Amino acid sequence: MLNENFSEGLMERLDWLIRLRWIAVIGVCFTIFFVAQVLKINLAIFPLYSVALFLLLYNFAIHKYLNYIKKKNLASLATITNRLANLQISLDLLSLASLIHFSGGIENPFIFYFIFHMIIASILLSRRASFLQASFATGLFILVVSLEYFNFLDHYRLKGFVVYDLHQNLIYILGVSFVFISTLYLAVYMATSISVRLRQKEKSLREANLLLEEKDRIKSEYVLRVSHDIKEHLSTIETCLEPVAQGLTGELNPRQNDLIQRAKERTEKLLFFVKALLEITRIKLSRQIEMVDFSLRKTIENAINFVETKANDKGISLSCNIASTIDTIKGAQIYIEETIANLLANSVKYTPKNGEVSIDLKDKGHSVLIKISDTGIGIPENEIGRIFEEFYRAKNARQTEREGTGLGLSIAKQVVERHKGKIWVESEGEGKGSKFFIILPKGLPKL
Ligand code: ADP
Repeated sequence: MLNENFSEGLMERLDWLIRLRWIAVIGVCFTIFFVAQVLKINLAIFPLYSVALFLLLYNFAIHKYLNYIKKKNLASLATITNRLANLQISLDLLSLASLIHFSGGIENPFIFYFIFHMIIASILLSRRASFLQASFATGLFILVVSLEYFNFLDHYRLKGFVVYDLHQNLIYILGVSFVFISTLYLAVYMATSISVRLRQKEKSLREANLLLEEKDRIKSEYVLRVSHDIKEHLSTIETCLEPVAQGLTGELNPRQNDLIQRAKERTEKLLFFVKALLEITRIKLSRQIEMVDFSLRKTIENAINFVETKANDKGISLSCNIASTIDTIKGAQIYIEETIANLLANSVKYTPKNGEVSIDLKDKGHSVLIKISDTGIGIPENEIGRIFEEFYRAKNARQTEREGTGLGLSIAKQVVERHKGKIWVESEGEGKGSKFFIILPKGLPKL
């Protein structure tokens, strides 16, 4: 049975092997050309280029087949990829043995390239399969050498490179074969020992990661329950305070009025904070967010409306520039609107009076690039990497605005990442304004 841990990631490694083989084909052709044309060593050009063509063709076929099975999502994918890895290595060994045969056999120093194949086998295959491939390579080597020795196969001597004919020198053959075969097995032994250890480490890291994710989920569920309860109580307190503050329960003296107003203000702030905490926890816990087609243009307009009054009060100019080709995208409209509104609200909040805030949308084909820039307080260089962390507020922001949860940007990050997008910030430093960027895919598969 296949080891599940081992077969995971094999597909990725097969892609890597295919890329490597394209390079190998170019390398083989270049070497044949260089050796024959520049070094003027006598080579069997036609058979050698034919092997290179064979390499090229089966690499193309495997590449196509791999793409096909990736799309099919077959249940037996692990078995198929494992067989495919074995087949590819065997074909590579066969090609190398043919190249060696047509270019001097045992006299060709490229025989040691078999070791690369053994290392690749140890990375891709199980230990047992790697040793089997080493035996296959040994078999091919012995076959070529002995068939040439007994004249069952032609020997293509590298005239201009080897002075003496070595393919029938028994002592030479035995010596080279001993070093060659022992090196092959030693290479497999060492490479598999390292890769088995690495695979075990990878497995334990993956398990530790799963455990952490599970703990994080339990913590989030706890936060969700607690903040939900707090929110309910706070809402009730707010509802009770409202008529008292409005004087509906009887006139208040100035002292009473002051105390009630302060209690109301604090309740509102706490409620705002708890709602943000609830929101980020909900997003984290929800496995699926419903994605629909919606107008991004309209959503941006709504977000701008949300901050317009605040911006006007501070004399901040708000400008918006949306590429004409941008309209409908697929996503969670409410979350996107909230995210943009949040970023714009931050820009207005952290920009002094009479400053500028702008939002630009560029069409990038499959995605949209959103840029929100302001001429505000900027972000200190040493804190720029932390502002997307939960509850983090930069020092200059805390000094400018006492109020703030430090949750807005982490919510924005969660939302954008759930849309398979990217969010980042650029600021030249304190007092030099900030630029927030979002890459939002126009359409995406259901999460
Ligand atoms: P807050 O409630 O503090 O605004 P956010 O999560 O929205 O929380 O932002 C986190 C921190 O990122 C802010 O405290 C501030 O330090 C920084 N920040 C966000 N937007 C801006 C901006 N437009 N200009 C300067 N600093 C900003």
